Amino acid sequence: MNYQIIANIGERVKLAKNIVIVTHSNPDGDAIGSSLGLFHFLQSFIPLSNVKVVVPNEFPSFLKWLPGVEQILIYDNSKIEVEDLLANCDLCFCLDFNSLKRIDNLHPLLLTIAAPKILIDHHPQPDNDFEIVLSCVDFSSTSELIYAVITKIGGQEKLDINIASCLYVGIMTDTGSFSYASNRPELYTAVSELIKRGIDVDFIHRKVYDTYSETRMRLLGYCLSSSLVVLQNTHTAYIYLSKEDLKNFDYQNGDTEGVVNYPLSIQGVVLAALFTEKDGKIRISLRSKGKFNVNEFSRKYLNGGGHKNAAGGTLYSTLSEAVKLFEDSVLENSSLINEAFLQYE
Ligand code: 5GP
Ligand code: MN
Repeated sequence: MNYQIIANIGERVKLAKNIVIVTHSNPDGDAIGSSLGLFHFLQSFIPLSNVKVVVPNEFPSFLKWLPGVEQILIYDNSKIEVEDLLANCDLCFCLDFNSLKRIDNLHPLLLTIAAPKILIDHHPQPDNDFEIVLSCVDFSSTSELIYAVITKIGGQEKLDINIASCLYVGIMTDTGSFSYASNRPELYTAVSELIKRGIDVDFIHRKVYDTYSETRMRLLGYCLSSSLVVLQNTHTAYIYLSKEDLKNFDYQNGDTEGVVNYPLSIQGVVLAALFTEKDGKIRISLRSKGKFNVNEFSRKYLNGGGHKNAAGGTLYSTLSEAVKLFEDSVLENSSLINEAFLQYE
């Protein structure tokens, strides 16, 4: 944690008149939670109407109860307004991504804006497109980093229940409810402070995880009973969903969130993948246990990236070609995957 960088961010915020916060496409709990947490904090410095959160595309309905969520602008739905905001802002926060490639159709816009871009993120290997970079790979989530930024710039007294709810959702979702990326004791100090602001963590858990539609639950059943493939010899399992499968289960944004984690619960499996056929391309989510680095795997074979144990990528191919490429790449990496397997024996 570099306090000088945070002090620098504090100075920029105090001078700014219009701020835009941008996060990655297909925004998840950490993307939305960290952005809204920062949004509420910035009220201390400038009028709320002069701060906006912008996301490239739709986000899941299980996040739509968060305080401040109604002011989020979705670029897909509000192109002119977003272009105007970005052209006229004097500071642009970039949260929870390490490369402008991760913001899809907002990418060209962000390359041309005059405002300095401040990256706050926990993914490895950030690109060089940002004026200020606060990148902390050992943090559980960008939301935990925003907690550090807020308390260093504003002090504990600036944390309120709205900020706490948003940051808690980001931390909870990015750690799988404190089951990975969650070994640092400082994380629990932060969470303790958030809970002291009066948030109800039982309620928040139910709002995020117990709000499945019937079709989402049946899609999960289909993934586990019909679509799961287990490659015992290489300690790998994957699930694949064609666009017809998604249509059959009335797929809504966010319905496959968390599905990729299930195969890792099979004894002996240390690498899991989920393939989804969407918009003429194949999205791949990857999860691993222990030593096997899916960030590197995804960068090498899947045009993607991410963290050591959670990554994603995109292939412009058919579903069966994507699965074949994955299986071949797994075979090529079988000794590395086996090393991760032996850690758990
Ligand atoms: P998910 O599987 O939940 O979509 O993504 C897992 C992690 O990998 C997230 O931290 C996400 O930011 C990262 N990630 C997902 N897709 C991509 C991608 O296409 N490129 C890069 N660089 N990171 C990705
Ligand atoms: Mn994150």
